[in-house]
Amino acid sequence: MLRTHTCGELRLSDKGNTVKLTGWIQKVRDKGGMIFIDLRDRYGLTQLVLNEQNGQQEVIAEARKLGREFVVQVEGTVLEREAKNSKIATGEIEIDLSSITILNPSKTPPILIEDNANEGEDLRMKYRYLDLRKNNVRAGLELRHRLMRETRNFLDKENFLEVETPVLIKSTPEGARDFVVPSRMNPGEFYALPQSPQTFKQLLMVSGFDRYFQIVKCFRDEDLRADRQPEFTQIDCEMSFVEREDILSLFEKLVKHIFQSEKGISLPDFPRMTYADAMEYYGSDKPDTRFDMKFVTLTPLTKGKDFAIFEQAELVVAINAKGCANYSRKQLDKLTDFVKKPQVGAKGLVYVKCNEDGSYKSSVDKFYSQEDLKAWAEAANAEAGDLLLVLSGKDSTTRKQMNELRLEMGSQLGLRDKNTFSCLWVVDFPLLEWDEESKRFHAMHHPFTSSIQEDVHLLDSKPEDVRANAYDMVINGVELGGGSIRIHDKDIQAKMFDALGFSEEEAKAQFGFLMDAFEYGAPPHAGIAFGFDRLCSLLGGSDSIRDYIAFPKNNAGRDVMIDSPAPIAKEQLDELGLKAQ
Ligand code: ASP
Repeated sequence: MLRTHTCGELRLSDKGNTVKLTGWIQKVRDKGGMIFIDLRDRYGLTQLVLNEQNGQQEVIAEARKLGREFVVQVEGTVLEREAKNSKIATGEIEIDLSSITILNPSKTPPILIEDNANEGEDLRMKYRYLDLRKNNVRAGLELRHRLMRETRNFLDKENFLEVETPVLIKSTPEGARDFVVPSRMNPGEFYALPQSPQTFKQLLMVSGFDRYFQIVKCFRDEDLRADRQPEFTQIDCEMSFVEREDILSLFEKLVKHIFQSEKGISLPDFPRMTYADAMEYYGSDKPDTRFDMKFVTLTPLTKGKDFAIFEQAELVVAINAKGCANYSRKQLDKLTDFVKKPQVGAKGLVYVKCNEDGSYKSSVDKFYSQEDLKAWAEAANAEAGDLLLVLSGKDSTTRKQMNELRLEMGSQLGLRDKNTFSCLWVVDFPLLEWDEESKRFHAMHHPFTSSIQEDVHLLDSKPEDVRANAYDMVINGVELGGGSIRIHDKDIQAKMFDALGFSEEEAKAQFGFLMDAFEYGAPPHAGIAFGFDRLCSLLGGSDSIRDYIAFPKNNAGRDVMIDSPAPIAKEQLDELGLKAQ
């Protein structure tokens, strides 16, 4: 072995021993007569010392050649440090060097390899292999490793089998855009990379696997955001002979187990909220329930007072910002600017201050009396010192805008603490949503989701009212996972494709294999998939899932390190029967 210990291992109890260490040079401090060197590896940092008075001339000459990130092997004796450093585990000792061997020199690194050094994202990503040397960056991947291990252990104990499903599959028109791969052996034909192993895991249920899981890469060609990557990882699960409650309680247990093992937090039971309530009170199907500030509908209270904007509005809705009646003109203007941002898109913001003296001050005083405003305040449970923020317009757009404002107020008031976790299940999603562009219904979850039994009869007459037997797990306003009870009956599946505008031939061409399988004894089954990268970022505390991915892509979907995507050679194109652009 090149080393007897790692750089994080030696303690005072090793005093007097001769040791060999290997690692990277973090820093050299040459104080003339004394040289101090910090040697780093994955496990920690150890201080090395050289003293001219001890006559180590050759070693000192070698030390003076060292630069940042040189790889070395050193040998020496463990000494007790005079000035101890309680911040690091090896802070009580240092190594008095008897030899230094340079195993490999290093150019001056283009990024500073120190925790939380603040270089631009692109430079960090171009030299990601250096970025990954930082303790805080490596810590993200260590967390990922632990969560993967805990997930596997838990599911293994619960009798789940991990089965790999293919990566080269077939493009389907449902869901997001596919990444496609041309097939050389079948010119003009393409594979697609899976957006999820959905149909395969259902087929495994038909095969009798009963409980399946896979920690699996999925691919979606979508526009990117901080919490999206073109390739991402899911904890994908499917179970047979279960009802909704079985799924919810088992996967709640999985998430509780992960929080307990990683953070020592024991989460309370997750409440259930219907989609309808989530939209009514939070304007979002993934409400951040770390704080209250629920929506209050004021519509009927605002009518008949000649205020044209509210008069015409389908919805007038308020939130109560507790204790904010003292907001200054400037603060209110800033909130107005916030709701008017194109990303939010409101036309304006109405406020009502509930003054300490019991009076009300509002931006619509001209139209509404003190009595009117009092009625609003009462509807919103507002007390003296509170501030009502009111938006109006079309129902669905106003709810979305109010959701943004609510989250903004939650942040401003410090109510969205990263170390507080509020978990819930959102259930009873609509089965279908109307898509204006294609002028047809799309499956809100996916076409294999069953509807709630009592709504089935509405499928022909009022398809938009049919509720799905689908559920999402939401933590702190993040959709962590989602799934559904599946259709396992061929005729119902065919009916679903019909509702989604597939002709019989199209349905057969796309999903014939699944409908065929349903004719050979398909058990009732259900499942769920969790966004594993999001789970990491939730537990790790960083908003960007990139911090938990070893080699992530940038906002334009590029890997700037390997410089991909990239053109391919003409011969490759020819072989694939493709034309250059
Ligand atoms: N395959 C679904 C998804 O990727 C999850 C599921 O229904 O199990 O969202």
